[in-house]
Amino acid sequence: MKGMVIIMMNENIKEIEYRIQAACDRAGRERSEVTLIAVSKTKPNEMLEEAYQLGMRHFGENKVQELSQKFEDLNKLFQERVYWHLIGHLQRNKVKYIIDKAVLIHSVDSLRLADQIEEEAAKKNRIIDILIEVNIAKEDTKFGTSEESIFSLLADIAKLPHIRVRGLMTIAPYVENPEINRKYFRKLRELFIDIKTKNIDNNCNGNIINTEYFDILSMGMTGDFEVAIEEGATMVRVGTGIFGERDYSKTV
Ligand SMILES: *Cc1c(COP(=O)(O)O)cnc(C)c1O
Repeated sequence: MKGMVIIMMNENIKEIEYRIQAACDRAGRERSEVTLIAVSKTKPNEMLEEAYQLGMRHFGENKVQELSQKFEDLNKLFQERVYWHLIGHLQRNKVKYIIDKAVLIHSVDSLRLADQIEEEAAKKNRIIDILIEVNIAKEDTKFGTSEESIFSLLADIAKLPHIRVRGLMTIAPYVENPEINRKYFRKLRELFIDIKTKNIDNNCNGNIINTEYFDILSMGMTGDFEVAIEEGATMVRVGTGIFGERDYSKTV
């Protein structure tokens, strides 16, 4: 059984790598511009160990408790550094558990949450890298700030000395045909460039963020990562494509 899982994941990762490379080629980009995050939520530690053996170094989790547990259990087994990404919605009361574990928080969408991160980061005397989650398709069911309010949010976050805004993240709609999401990925990239070049119509006195470090665009999942790469993604978050379908009836 264990051997079967390794063989399956080995094939999966090879296939995803091949498709990432092909998407980079089509877009005239270097493979090194795109970080593959293996989204390991709901998957047992053994599968993350296999993924590590197969070369994965970035893991994405959407729950604080699960990320923390895997961080504790697995970091000591790995010889090389692995990077833990918090990609799911973050509640303010859980910030303190994640602050020194996640290398990047992808899901900041309010000043209230940013304030809490600032407070915990200050206590630990650390600077925390975050992304702003944008609800680019304006879906009712999704978290994320709107395109309209992002500039004032950035201006407010710019005042928090222990937070570094590294870029934008979005979760595109679930679609059968990934081409449907191309317009959303393109829109997020345009927003990213607007912020980066401060070429924006706003009332924030040009005081947005320090754009020197603004270099991450986290978009694209199993169903649509190739389109996302063609549209400029620098991080893709792939779960099912690497680990297989998730079973939510068993909690880890
Ligand atoms: C679960 C999840 C993913 C991965 O989804 P797959 O379709 O399995 O690749 C990516 N991003 C976020 C925020 C997720 O919660």
